[in-house]
Amino acid sequence: MALFDAGSHARMMLLVDVALPVPLARIFTYEVPSELVARATTGARVVCPFGTRRLIGVVLGAREGEPPDGVKRLHSVLDTMPAVPADLVLFLRDLASYYMAPIGEVMRLALPPLEKEDSRALAEPTLFDSGMRGVATRTVQWVVATDAPDLGANEGSADAPRGQAAAILAHVRATGDVPTARLAALWGNARPAIKKLASHNLVRIEEREAPRDPFFANAVPRDTPPVLTDAQRAAVDAIDAALVAREAKTFLLHGVTGSGKTEVYLHAIAVARAQERGVLVLVPEIALTPQLVARFRARFGDEVAVVHSGLTVKERLVMWQRIHRAEVDVVIGARSALFAPLKNIGLVIVDEEHDSSFKQEEGVRYHARDMAIFRAHRCGAVCVLGTATPSLETEHLARTGKATKLRLPGRARTQAMPRVSIVDLRRIGPGPTGDKRISLHLHRAIEDTLKAKEQAILFLNRRGFAPSVQCQGCGVIASCPSCSVALTFHKRAGAVVRCHYCEYERPMPTQCKACGSAELALEGLGTEKLEETLAKAFPEARIARLDRDVATGKTVEKVLDRVRAREVDILVGTQMVTKGHDLPFVTLVGVINADAATSIPDFRAAERAFQLLVQVAGRAGRGDLAGRVLVQTYNPEHPAITFALRHDVPGFIEQELANRRELGYPPYARVALIRIDAVDENEARDAAQRVAEAARAASAPSVAVLGPAPAPLARLRNRFRFRVMLRSADRAALRRVLVAADKARAGLPRDVRCILDIDPMQLL
Ligand SMILES: [Zn+2]
Ligand SMILES: [Zn+2]
Repeated sequence: MALFDAGSHARMMLLVDVALPVPLARIFTYEVPSELVARATTGARVVCPFGTRRLIGVVLGAREGEPPDGVKRLHSVLDTMPAVPADLVLFLRDLASYYMAPIGEVMRLALPPLEKEDSRALAEPTLFDSGMRGVATRTVQWVVATDAPDLGANEGSADAPRGQAAAILAHVRATGDVPTARLAALWGNARPAIKKLASHNLVRIEEREAPRDPFFANAVPRDTPPVLTDAQRAAVDAIDAALVAREAKTFLLHGVTGSGKTEVYLHAIAVARAQERGVLVLVPEIALTPQLVARFRARFGDEVAVVHSGLTVKERLVMWQRIHRAEVDVVIGARSALFAPLKNIGLVIVDEEHDSSFKQEEGVRYHARDMAIFRAHRCGAVCVLGTATPSLETEHLARTGKATKLRLPGRARTQAMPRVSIVDLRRIGPGPTGDKRISLHLHRAIEDTLKAKEQAILFLNRRGFAPSVQCQGCGVIASCPSCSVALTFHKRAGAVVRCHYCEYERPMPTQCKACGSAELALEGLGTEKLEETLAKAFPEARIARLDRDVATGKTVEKVLDRVRAREVDILVGTQMVTKGHDLPFVTLVGVINADAATSIPDFRAAERAFQLLVQVAGRAGRGDLAGRVLVQTYNPEHPAITFALRHDVPGFIEQELANRRELGYPPYARVALIRIDAVDENEARDAAQRVAEAARAASAPSVAVLGPAPAPLARLRNRFRFRVMLRSADRAALRRVLVAADKARAGLPRDVRCILDIDPMQLL
């Protein structure tokens, strides 16, 4: 009893736990001076003394308690309100814990980037006003319909708007507020007509702050929802029911390519918005999905925030502020949009959930799809995972009752699925070009397509001209000095060889480094060479190319616009051409080399190859014309190819799940990789050995510890890479081993980097 009534001994204080931007997986505690008590709340940015410096951290939570020895006092609180909403703080804490990532680094994901590091931010204390400074505030004119009765009702009135003015008035009334620039895009010089309407008080002109968003410039006419197919209707009804009941349900929306998944999303979003709840939409890559963004804009106008990498730091800050102030309720973006400060989330959509770009491969290695499910669940929101080729992980969720599967089994319009056939390169020789990789069958199919004035897409997963340069004297392949990969020859960039991993570049060598021979041959086929070969073989055809060398950001959209306008006959490209583009006159898809995808040393290789083939095949025959797909391969019996041939997604999933179960791979077990690298090979190997030993010492029979082994990509950017793989169906046991391995990291030499990758998507 005496222990507890000695209140005078205890100095109860308000304490806060703070995440600081340091690479340590720990939380720091500070005492809150009385004048800051009201503002040092969860999610607030605070300035903390740290050693001799001051750092900006984020408050994770506040509590009353006896201050620990040596506790320091908070210096100040930034911003007028918490920068990170409280529910987002909780989500980020869980994320940090799941991935065993430093909380300070995780918290950064939710803050808008600031121009400079902390020193500058300290001088410019608020996230909520500072963004506007420095950004030249540009305004644009909007035309807004007034409530004034239409003078046109007075038949024959001299004031009644006519012609263009009448049309503009009707448009503004139908679509809501419209920027003047957009009217100009529709009617040419609309200004006199708008002035006239304004003088009659039928519209008024407002100056509004211009959205800082390149997508905004495009005039997107508003659309009206089309009539849904029965399958779309059933999917919409199921999602709506969950939204209305406010159930935190997860759906797998499995629709074949062209089945109209987007329309289902749009309906669900409308319902969530009617409930005044926020909507988060994650897409693989914004730059590659301009059409999808346009459709969202067409339905919901400018209340859609598009977060993408094309924004400058300041534009991002302004976007973040708009979301934070709840000026927009729909946020679309790539994986980082997961951390948008959107409040009251009712719906989270992950489009193309199988796409590997949802996995962040540096810094905090999170999977945005997995975490989207998690964030939705935390918010009591509905989560919709859409795809034509479900990942085995998501399929497993559906099979174990953690997600509800909704099927869209047919294409939304009346198109049939494209006819897929295999070109067995072991038996079919080259066409007139003499290049084996443009087989006679493919050549003829291209000819037919051109003759019919239709379009072809040729998919080749290697950019550049020739993927390698080989010495004819000794057989050595020119490789990157910093990475264990071959250098790719790029012709149009000025006859250079480049490393596609570290961007090393040099002029094409004139002699072999190993033997001095001057006889160097360009080996293999890249998109650049394919384009050139086709241009020679089909001189009348208009050819465009889409890969990272030619297309960045907006140029992707331009190329796709040209294809849509039928200014292109043949589109050559890498994965960029496989994304969800809807190009109605494409009737032929050629896969130049299907084996490139199936032969990667990764347990997910077959799954990825299958997804890729189905996606690229799905580009054919989306309009009124029938589509066909030619898949060239030396390995026509590969299951990824045979199932894709029959559009048999369930069949492939069934077989691949059986393989994974037998081998003990995800989704039946969890995998974690410990990636170790260093400039010195021996140092890296020794470190990997120590980490593996620590893991083994803590291991249980249910956890397999494999390695250390050199990574398949053994050297990257001058660092030698090793890995230790952990695998277990027992999550808790796996975690105990990871914790032990994590402790061993602390004792490694400074030069050694050791990274935990939980649920890795790439084994390279
Ligand atoms: Zn040589
Ligand atoms: Zn390199």
